[in-house]
Amino acid sequence: MIERTTDVLVLGSGGAGLFAALHAFDASPSLSVTVAVKGLLGKCGCTRMVQGGYNVALAAGDSIERHFMDTIEGGKWLPDQDLAWRLVTGAVERIHELENELGCFFDRNPDGTLHQKAFAGQTFDRTVHKGDLTGIEIINRLAEQTWARGIARLEEHRAVALIPARDGGRLAGVLFIDMRSGEPVFVRARAVVLATGGGPTMYRYHTPSGDKSCDGLAMALRLGLTLRDMEMVQFHPTGLLAGSGTRMTGTVLEEGLRGSGGYLLNGAGERFMARLDPRGERATRDVVSRGIFAEMRAGRTTPNGGVHISMGHLGAANVRRQFKGMVERCADCGFDLAAGLVEVVPTAHYMMGGVEFDTGCRTAVAGLFAAGEDTGGVHGANRLGGNGVANSTVFGGIAGDEVAAYVAHAGATPEPDRALVAAEIARCEAPLARMGNGIEPLRERLQALMWDDVGILRDRAGLARAVGELDTLHEELGQFGVAGSDRAFNLTWHDWLNLDNLLLVSRAIARAALAREDSRGAHFREDFPQTGELATSAFTRIAYADGGFTTGFAPVAFTRVAPGTSLLDAQRSA
Ligand SMILES: Cc1cc2nc3c(=O)[nH]c(=O)nc-3n(C[C@H](O)[C@H](O)[C@H](O)COP(=O)(O)OP(=O)(O)OC[C@H]3O[C@@H](n4cnc5c(N)ncnc54)[C@H](O)[C@@H]3O)c2cc1C
Repeated sequence: MIERTTDVLVLGSGGAGLFAALHAFDASPSLSVTVAVKGLLGKCGCTRMVQGGYNVALAAGDSIERHFMDTIEGGKWLPDQDLAWRLVTGAVERIHELENELGCFFDRNPDGTLHQKAFAGQTFDRTVHKGDLTGIEIINRLAEQTWARGIARLEEHRAVALIPARDGGRLAGVLFIDMRSGEPVFVRARAVVLATGGGPTMYRYHTPSGDKSCDGLAMALRLGLTLRDMEMVQFHPTGLLAGSGTRMTGTVLEEGLRGSGGYLLNGAGERFMARLDPRGERATRDVVSRGIFAEMRAGRTTPNGGVHISMGHLGAANVRRQFKGMVERCADCGFDLAAGLVEVVPTAHYMMGGVEFDTGCRTAVAGLFAAGEDTGGVHGANRLGGNGVANSTVFGGIAGDEVAAYVAHAGATPEPDRALVAAEIARCEAPLARMGNGIEPLRERLQALMWDDVGILRDRAGLARAVGELDTLHEELGQFGVAGSDRAFNLTWHDWLNLDNLLLVSRAIARAALAREDSRGAHFREDFPQTGELATSAFTRIAYADGGFTTGFAPVAFTRVAPGTSLLDAQRSA
């Protein structure tokens, strides 16, 4: 087996991974920093797909306290308040870094200030953007800087296991499959940043990039780490319905469309959101997704089973100018967003839950740091649109700073648990030794099950059914093989590994959803429709060991503000 050594190993090249790599390198240029990624650096992951933009309190009249309160209230008082505070304060620093040090160009007002647009669920227009394709600007500049510094890259390297030291004291490295050859590669590291970006691709309709299959979360579970808030899966209300069998179905039509005045019509042509929430289409994502789903269940749908988004009343020329990327995306699929009606459906978009971590991006395992969508606690029950890329870039940078400081005192690369390396290779290679029997039907069953029973509307019967059925699917996958094909770029094998991870994480989501008997943000229980007592809010915790899960709750610490109060009150009276 090929073995490599590095000081700092970063898993993933999204906003979190690249910021971690750049900050670690800049903090300590003598360190060897390696970015390992399942795809090609700069070309994969969800940060590149960011459309709407980046939340940051910059404008006169806005404040970080206001951004913080929107984040806490949007998250239904479940966010970890210290993490949320780090997000809103760090976003100001990071946006200046993106512009002034990394060279991003964001849209500006005629007076030269940054243009900030409206996003749903926020009390101020604070979303910085580059048209409606903001992520390409961010990730291109980050990739250029990574290349310019000569940071080492392992592309098309899929991380499959986090390997602790032989004495168990800290992390010792990561096992990979080099996707180009299919051979295992072990990278020893003094510290690792986990930034593989979650990705709820286990649902029938989903938005994230195809390389995302919750690999980081699955690896964290297998390592014994605790995940929090796993029941909190965000559905974006407006995924494109482009017809079955197209890769475009589920892809997101950005929130700014509704923020700027776009509205939703059911199959009967009724603007139904107006009767469900005083904010109408500008309500938070969970509320709008539930509204659409309810119309779908009631059968008031458009021809392909969704609802329509209408933008034409805002003026076709204006829509084309403001939402060029969205208009072109729809046109590619034969739809006229600027002047006509486009069919949309809620689509699984983001996981608020993830690895427990602290404000220094440390996890419970020494030497393992985490940032971005792999982590839990920043957003609580609901992520505000625009807080995702802020999260990944803010905490990615922090992880880079912290990992460099850690490595300075971490001592030599620890000796890995080689028995575990061998066991993990055997686990991954097992399907290669079994006859191939096609896993696509299994994936379809997983996606249907998660959509129907662990989706936008949940209840005890459906969740209990899902828990049992997911365990069965997991056992069935264990019988499936991919034999008879070459290891090099063996996408069937990687699909098997993707599905294995998605199943493990789906089992965690279903159990956490069954445990939470109230309705908060993205998690809606039809049998417990009320939001529980805010003052005693608790978040779910789930861990995996010896093939079984343990689920529990821990109270939210209201370190900065308690339910019923607001940081803005303090600001106003000051
Ligand atoms: C269509 C779309 C639009 C969005 N729009 C917005 C928006 O307007 N505003 C906003 O705030 N947020 C938005 N988001 C959310 C935002 O993209 C994410 O919150 C954020 O980019 C996540 O960053 P990340 O670095 O954690 O993960 P990613 O950017 O997804 O990066 C993950 C990286 O890990 C790699 N990886 C995965 N598995 C492995 C493995 N096993 N081994 C090695 N590497 C691996 C991937 O290839 C990728 O490079 C959007 C998301 C989508 C899908």
